[in-house]
Amino acid sequence: MVFGMENVMNKAADITDIKQEIIRLKKEKDVLILAHYYVDGDVQEIADFVGDSFALAKRAETVEQQTILFCGVSFMGESAKILNPSKKVLLPDLLADCPMAHMVTTEQIAAMRREHPGIAVVCYVNSTAEIKAVSDVCVTSSNAVKIVKKLGNKEIYFVPDKHLGHFVAEQIPEKTIYFNDGFCPVHDAIKLSELTAEKEKHKGALVVIHPECSSELIALADYTGSTKEILEYVKSSASMEFIVLTEAGILYELQKNNPDKRFYFTESIPICNDMKKITLEKVYASLLTMEHEVIMTEELIREASASLMKMLQLAAE
Ligand code: SF4
Repeated sequence: MVFGMENVMNKAADITDIKQEIIRLKKEKDVLILAHYYVDGDVQEIADFVGDSFALAKRAETVEQQTILFCGVSFMGESAKILNPSKKVLLPDLLADCPMAHMVTTEQIAAMRREHPGIAVVCYVNSTAEIKAVSDVCVTSSNAVKIVKKLGNKEIYFVPDKHLGHFVAEQIPEKTIYFNDGFCPVHDAIKLSELTAEKEKHKGALVVIHPECSSELIALADYTGSTKEILEYVKSSASMEFIVLTEAGILYELQKNNPDKRFYFTESIPICNDMKKITLEKVYASLLTMEHEVIMTEELIREASASLMKMLQLAAE
């Protein structure tokens, strides 16, 4: 069955049929679908590989198919293109973008380098290709501490996320870390009062938290880690109840892996509206038309690849 474009946008379209069509089309067109844990469960279900930023970057590097369809926000599509430039990379929605990726500028970095000549610029993977191009090394939330420790530089400028920067700094007190004032609007919005309310309601539950949250919340958590690390921690824990302080898309994988455990989110429920722009209908439309390609100049790909490649190399050592 082939859907016309009008039908694709029709909410009455049968989800099961769309999923089957996506599976047929990706084979026919030699496309590998990568998806981040924060996209909707329906989208995760049709993906060939689901992961956090680090796992997705590693997977993108070795894709053999002609095309990568990246179900995530724009910096993730850019990273896939940088790591595997001969492939066509498609995004289901070019407007799905991470606000934090734009919270630091190349001018700020140049000014810090002038002020502190020996500094290493460490950029969180949630940054634009232009920022990666002027950074020394890229990191993800799962390898930031390990990589900053390994750098020879005593002074570090950590961009763009202030919360992840502070989390890293607390564990590496021997280094001087300068922070940028960027933040993830989704994690930053989780309030201390919401956490204390959940702790009051679920007294035996363990608190797991992503380091994009503020340090006052991290101080009350039982475990701090990246999305993948939280998933591993919950799976191996004997506890049956968890208060989860990260984007709610993680629930799909948490429930899949731990059907008997219970998960609670804060009352305002952390949802990334940009990740939720990736719908099954848009995935299907993108596969059908092979549209929304990530376009970057060869020069930008070359300049941005050094910091990403250095991350993969240091993380593997
Ligand atoms: S959850 Fe936060 S950091 Fe992740 S894409 Fe959304 S806005 Fe960006």
